[in-house]
Amino acid sequence: MASLSLKHIFKVYDGGVKAVNDFCMDIEDKEFIVFVGPSGCGKSTTLRMIAGLEEITAGELRIDDEIVNDYEPKDRNIAMVFQNYALYPHMSVYENMAFSLRTAHMPNEYIHDKVMEAAAILGITEYLDRKPKALSGGQRQRVALGRAIVRNPKVFLLDEPLSNLDAKLRSAMRAEISRLHEKLGTTFIYVTHDQVEAMTMGSRIVVMKDGFVQQIDTPINLYKYPGNMFVAGFIGTPQMNFFEGTVTKTGDEVRFALDCGTNVDMKYIQADKVPVKYMDGKHRIVFGIRPDDVRVKNSTNYDDGSWSPARAIVSVVEVLGGETLLYANLNLDDPDCESSTIIIKADPDTVARRGDVIDIEISRRKFHVFDKETEKSIRKRIPDENIINASVRDGRLTFEGQIFTLPPAIECSASENAEISMPISALTIGGGSGKATVQWTEKIGDKTLYFLKVGEVTLFSLEDGEAKYSVGDEVDFDIDFTMISSEALGIAPLQFTNTLDGSFSKEKNKETKLYDFYMNIGEARLVPTATVCEKIFACKGNKIFHTPLEYIVDARAITTAPHTEDRENVLTGSVLEIHDYTSAKYATVDVYGQKLIAAYDGAVGDTVDVTIPVEAMTIKDKTIDIIIV
Ligand code: ADP
Repeated sequence: MASLSLKHIFKVYDGGVKAVNDFCMDIEDKEFIVFVGPSGCGKSTTLRMIAGLEEITAGELRIDDEIVNDYEPKDRNIAMVFQNYALYPHMSVYENMAFSLRTAHMPNEYIHDKVMEAAAILGITEYLDRKPKALSGGQRQRVALGRAIVRNPKVFLLDEPLSNLDAKLRSAMRAEISRLHEKLGTTFIYVTHDQVEAMTMGSRIVVMKDGFVQQIDTPINLYKYPGNMFVAGFIGTPQMNFFEGTVTKTGDEVRFALDCGTNVDMKYIQADKVPVKYMDGKHRIVFGIRPDDVRVKNSTNYDDGSWSPARAIVSVVEVLGGETLLYANLNLDDPDCESSTIIIKADPDTVARRGDVIDIEISRRKFHVFDKETEKSIRKRIPDENIINASVRDGRLTFEGQIFTLPPAIECSASENAEISMPISALTIGGGSGKATVQWTEKIGDKTLYFLKVGEVTLFSLEDGEAKYSVGDEVDFDIDFTMISSEALGIAPLQFTNTLDGSFSKEKNKETKLYDFYMNIGEARLVPTATVCEKIFACKGNKIFHTPLEYIVDARAITTAPHTEDRENVLTGSVLEIHDYTSAKYATVDVYGQKLIAAYDGAVGDTVDVTIPVEAMTIKDKTIDIIIV
């Protein structure tokens, strides 16, 4: 039984292949985690780093709160099961399973009990005397599992264990491994390139591509709320249908105009998670709809306004028994046009033939929208941003009948109808000069997403805990002006993330004759903690002294005070600019030629002492862009 924590894990192979980038995840005890993605995406490398078979280039791996980066594989108390079983051919099944316990000098009686217990769990008791070559693939894989079970590992790591088995056996073994996980009550991490395996076995799935984690979530959430086109296309069979096009909002009506000629029309309230800025008929979008969320029109179909009509011409009909898959084309004039092919999961009784033109219906609830350029979802479960069209005059911001007084930090000239965006965390309810009506609430994990009707548009707020307000309630809302941005008005959000160029150096201490180490930012030296030093040396060794670094720190972790005297671990700077947000004040400080933002209530020209807690800093290798600490 174990929990795991992977913090900013990187793997750079000799020769510079960056196989894993910034892998971050907390795994709870007893979870069944699946790493899935196409070949070469870094799944096995990550698993092998957890096992200790591959060195971790940078980052921190903890098992049960213990940092294990430097532990030998045998000391990590984990067991790994491989695709090719890795059994000893000259040993019996019994001896294969007993092997690791014998090398650990366990007493014979203990070994016997353990082997018999594992064999019973796996149903291989009758094969214990056989050699591996006298077993089928499925039986060999059971032996490989048995060899892991006898060691009572804290974590089971399984690397494509079923890919050598035929389809039927694979699905039987899938169920068996899931049962085994339940029975053992141990943390499992399972690698596969097969999304069906991932969906059926994982309590949470990590989808990877090109060394980057794309999304981590439960199978159902990945299916319902894919964060980008890659995840949307990778999870679910048959694949999601994608169509390029544009969106337009006219009053309360929204139209997705797809390039193939089909329009998907709906009320704004059905599409309100799509930012209004995309609804200009110009932004290129990709409309995504799963085969399950399209249906063939039928006079008995119930429709509460959730279905948009369309027509398609059938090209292929696949009768699978329990369901029928129709491959059709939305472009009636060019039925071979690939970009307008639509797959429909239809009723098993559906009668259709190649060339038939059929009436279909596309769900107005379960559709997906992606930005064509970034391929990211723009109809996310939790929207990233609120975007408003506002006017500015006399230091006041007005939009949709709301009036906010701008803080002194925001200087902009008068303007009409300027686009302003802010992360949804910038909009808080329960105070402030904004007035909204709660239109809908959605519980997401331990948070509540509020849909707020403000004039003609829907804005979002995400608050901790259960819903405190109900549909129809009038609420006050406030805007955190440090987070707003507007290209039209020349407003940028306050940059809370400070990035300072620096280096790492050593100096022989004349008294102790030992080396002291320093983090250098300009002329300032900060003294790293022993843990920071250890992490740096584990990752970079002696190269650290010649590596250009970035020290990254959040403005809210920094403290400032009027300058007193030069001290170790304190940077001295002069205030270049004051950002007065009324409720909070920040300063841009020049520290040895670099700019830094920190909370400070004073005046331009002040000399200030800046204290950055070393443990709050992220240290980045600038040359290969990896996080060292
Ligand atoms: P997956 O398990 O998802 O198929 P891997 O983790 O095996 O992917 O590989 C990720 C990337 O790292 C690939 O580009 C692969 O070629 C590369 N790679 C794997 N092992 C090594 C190695 N020993 N040396 C150099 N590159 C490697």
